[in-house]
Amino acid sequence: MTKVAAFDRDNTLAKPQGGNLGDPEALKTDPLWPQMKAWWDSVPLGVDRAVVTGREENLRPAMEEWFKSVGLEPDVLLMRADGDSTPNAEVKRQMLHQLQKDYDGVLYVVDDNPKAIDIYREKGVLAVDAKFINH
Ligand SMILES: [Mg+2]
Repeated sequence: MTKVAAFDRDNTLAKPQGGNLGDPEALKTDPLWPQMKAWWDSVPLGVDRAVVTGREENLRPAMEEWFKSVGLEPDVLLMRADGDSTPNAEVKRQMLHQLQKDYDGVLYVVDDNPKAIDIYREKGVLAVDAKFINH
């Protein structure tokens, strides 16, 4: 089994651009934070990269297109079920649980949601606040 490092997308890997959260076209225009690209590139060899996002599954094709356009290739992309209105931090708790089931360990998570960060840390996972990396 392999370890994994996890990254949130909005305001973590991607700069905020506004627009409608459910609009695939708006999503495609979001640029990558170069600082976070350095973190992405720093994941040790043999460790998988997961993206954990509160965006809905119906945006998966647009999301995959965005990752391709900015030159990132996540090993796994976890997305919220369509129509699921669970608060973002709770969605992240479920995703962390999924990663802990599927992997040998979660090396760290980078996220900008303070409530999600609290949850990762409660679970004993190193959680990096994206706002201290992206400026
Ligand atoms: Mg975010």
